[in-house]
Amino acid sequence: MKKLFFYFFFISKISFGNELPNLGDYSETIIGAHEERVIGREILQQAYQSKSIINDVEIEDYLYKLTNKLVQASNYSGSGLTFFIVNDRSINAFAMLGGVIGVHTGLILSSSSESELASVLSHEIAHITQRHLARLVGKMQKDSFKSYLGIGLALLLARSNPDLARGALTASQALSVQTVLDFTREHEKEADRVGLGILNKAGFDVRGSIDFFKTLQKGNRYSSGAAPSFLRTHPITSERISDIENRLTEYPYKQRLDDPSFHFVKGKIKVFLQEKKSIKKQLESNVKNKTYANELGERYALSYAYLINNDYKGASRELEWIQNTNIQNPMIDQLNIKILLRKGDTNLAYLAMKKALIKYPNYRAFVYELGNYLIKNKPTNEAVKFLESYVKIFHSDPEIYKLLAKSYSLSGKQTLQYESLSQSFYYSYNLQEAIIQMDMAVRARDGNFYEKSRVESRLKQLQKEKEIYEISKENL
Ligand SMILES: [Zn+2]
Repeated sequence: MKKLFFYFFFISKISFGNELPNLGDYSETIIGAHEERVIGREILQQAYQSKSIINDVEIEDYLYKLTNKLVQASNYSGSGLTFFIVNDRSINAFAMLGGVIGVHTGLILSSSSESELASVLSHEIAHITQRHLARLVGKMQKDSFKSYLGIGLALLLARSNPDLARGALTASQALSVQTVLDFTREHEKEADRVGLGILNKAGFDVRGSIDFFKTLQKGNRYSSGAAPSFLRTHPITSERISDIENRLTEYPYKQRLDDPSFHFVKGKIKVFLQEKKSIKKQLESNVKNKTYANELGERYALSYAYLINNDYKGASRELEWIQNTNIQNPMIDQLNIKILLRKGDTNLAYLAMKKALIKYPNYRAFVYELGNYLIKNKPTNEAVKFLESYVKIFHSDPEIYKLLAKSYSLSGKQTLQYESLSQSFYYSYNLQEAIIQMDMAVRARDGNFYEKSRVESRLKQLQKEKEIYEISKENL
C-alpha cells in the first residue's frame, strides 16, 4: 500500500490580507495542532488498512502534482497535508481533521477539465486552511468529539466497506454526526471564496467551479443514480452559486489546456472501475463511433483494456496511435513498458525502463518497474544499489522500502531486510507492525556494529512514538 504524504517545508506564505474573514479566534477551539495530528494519523491508519484506498502510483503522482500546485498557492502553513484516493464511483472529496483530504475516483472521472477537479480540491484545501473542522469540533461536546475518531472514517467507508463502517458506529449515530458535520453555510461560502483565490493563483480557470456544479447537477453517469455524496456534505444553494458567479467577474478569462496526464488518469480509472470484458467492448465502440470527450484519453484507456484482456496486438495498436501524436508524457512510456512486460519482451522492456528513467528521473512508476525487474533478472547487488539510491530520494515511500527489503532478503542480509520492511510499514501508517519488524531487525545476527546501533535506536524511537500516540489518544 502506498500513500501520498506531502511535507511542504518551503511554502511561501501568501497573505490574503483583509480578505480573510474573522470567523472567530482559533483559541475558541478545544483542539490543537497536536491533537489534530493524532486524529489525522488515526484516520490514515484505518483508511490504509481498509481496502478502499486506490493503489496506483501514476494516479497518486498525478494528484500529488495537482494538489501540490494548489497548496503552494494557498496560505497553508501546517506541517503537512495528506491526500488519498478512495476507489468509489460517487462524486466526492472531503477534508478531515489533521489535514487529511480524501478524493473519490468518481470525482476525477466526472470532472471534464483539470480546472473543475482543481476547483473542488481548492475548496477542500480552503476548509483546512480556514480550520473549519477544528472549529466545528471545538464547539462539540467533549464526548461526542471523542467519537470523531471513528466518525470521519465511518463516513468514508460506509459505501466501500459496510462491515467496517458498521463496526465503527451505527447508522443512526452516523446520521446525527452527519448533521453536525454538514458545514455551516458560512463555512461553505468562505471555502468557496478562499478556494477561488487558490484556483486562480495556481493558474487554473476559476470558471471550473461553476462548470463543476453543472457536472454535479447532471449527476454521475458512472454511479448508480444516487445523489452525489459531495452534495450531502457541501450543500449547493442557489445563493452559493450566485455568490460564486459574482466573484467570477473579478477574475480575467483564462483559457487553460489540460495536462495529457489528466486524460490518461481518467482513462485508467475508467478501466479500473469496470469489469474487464465489458469495459473493452464499451471503449471499442466509443473509439469506433467517436463518442468520447477526449480521443487521447479514450485510446489510452482502450489500450489498457486490451492489455488486461491479454490482447497485446490491440494494446500496441492503440499505443502506437498515441505515440504518433508526439505528445511527451511518462504515462505513455509506462504503458509501453507494461505492454512489453506482459508480452514477455523482457529485454526490450528493460531498455525502455532505462530510457524512461533517463527522460523522467524521478518518476516513481519507472523506479518500481526497474526495481522489480532487477530483483528478478539481475545479480542482487544491482537491485540493492539501485533501490538504495532511490530510497534516499523517496524516503517515505513504502513500496520502495518493500522492494528494497526483498532485494536484501535475496542477498541474505536479515538486519537490513527487517529494517526496510519496518520502514515500509511505518510509512503505511502501521506503527504496530513497524515495531515488530524493527524488533526482528534488532534480533537478527548479521548486522555490523553501525547497523545494529541504528536499528536499536530506531526501535526505541518507534516504541516512544507509539507510547506518546497512545497517551495522546487517551487524552483527546
Ligand atoms: Zn465544503
